[in-house]
Amino acid sequence: LLDALADQAALAIERIQLVADVDRAKLAAEADRLRSALLTSISHDLKTPLAAILGAAGTLRDYFGSMPVEDRNDLLATIIDESERLNRFIANLLDMTKIESGAMEPNDGLHYPGDIAGSALRRAAKILEGHEAQMIMPADLPMVRVDPVLFEQALFNLLDNAAKYAPEGSAIRIEGFVDAGNVVIQIADEGPGIPPPDLTRVFDTFYRVRKRDQVRAGTGLGLSICRGFIEAMGGTIDAGNRKDRCGAVFTIRLPEADDIPKLDELK
Ligand code: ADP
Repeated sequence: LLDALADQAALAIERIQLVADVDRAKLAAEADRLRSALLTSISHDLKTPLAAILGAAGTLRDYFGSMPVEDRNDLLATIIDESERLNRFIANLLDMTKIESGAMEPNDGLHYPGDIAGSALRRAAKILEGHEAQMIMPADLPMVRVDPVLFEQALFNLLDNAAKYAPEGSAIRIEGFVDAGNVVIQIADEGPGIPPPDLTRVFDTFYRVRKRDQVRAGTGLGLSICRGFIEAMGGTIDAGNRKDRCGAVFTIRLPEADDIPKLDELK
C-alpha cells in the first residue's frame, strides 16, 4: 500500500510540475508579448514627434531664405510643440518606472483639495481654452494628506483627457464633496464616455479604448500614472460614465486628513 501511495504521490508531483511548466511557459510567452507590444508602442510614440521635428527643421534649413515669416513661425511652432510632446512622454515614462519600481516617495502634507484643483486648472488653462471649465469646490471641504505635485499631476492628466476626448465647447466640471469619510474629487466631461468593458482597463499601461483614440496625441500612460500617484497617496480612483447625459466621470477618493495615519506610518 505504501509503495502504491508513493507511486501516486510521485505521479501527482509529476503532474503538478507539468502544469507548472506549462504555466511558466505561458507566463514567459505573455511577458514576451507585452514587452514587444511595449517597445512597439514606445518606438511609435517617440518616432512620430521626432519625424515631425526633423521634417520641420529640414524644411527650414532648405527654404529659410525664400520663406515667408509666417511659414517660418509655423515650422518653429511645430518644432517646439513636438519637442514638448517628447518631453512629456519621457517624463511620463520616468514616472511610470518610479511607480513600478516602488521608488515613489510622496511628500506628505496637509492641503485643501480646492487649492490643488485650482492650480491644476491654471496649468491646464491653455488646453482647456476650447472648453467651458467649471470648478465646484465648497470652501469647507476638509483637508487631505497628499503630495501636492503628484496630486496636481493626477488632476492635470484627467483634465487633459477630458479636453482631448470631449468635443469643443462642451463643459468640463471638477467637483469636490465629502462622502463617507472621504474627500471625493470628480472630473466629468461631455464626451463619448468609456464603454463599460473598458472601465477598469483604461488604467492599464498603454491601454487605449478606441482605434480612433490612437491617432490622437497620447500615450496610453496618463491614466496609469494617475492611478499610480493616487494609490501611492492612500487614495483610489475609478472611471465611470455619467448618468445624466453622455460623458465620462473619473472619481478620486482620499481619506479625510483627520482620521488617516501619516504616509510614513503606512509604510
Ligand atoms: P491617452 O489619453 O494618452 O491615450 P490615458 O491612459 O490617459 O492615455 O487614457 C487611456 C484611454 O482611456 C484613452 O486612450 C481613451 O481611450 C480613454 N479615455 C481616457 N479619458 C477619457 C475620457 N475623458 N473620455 C473618453 N475616453 C477616455
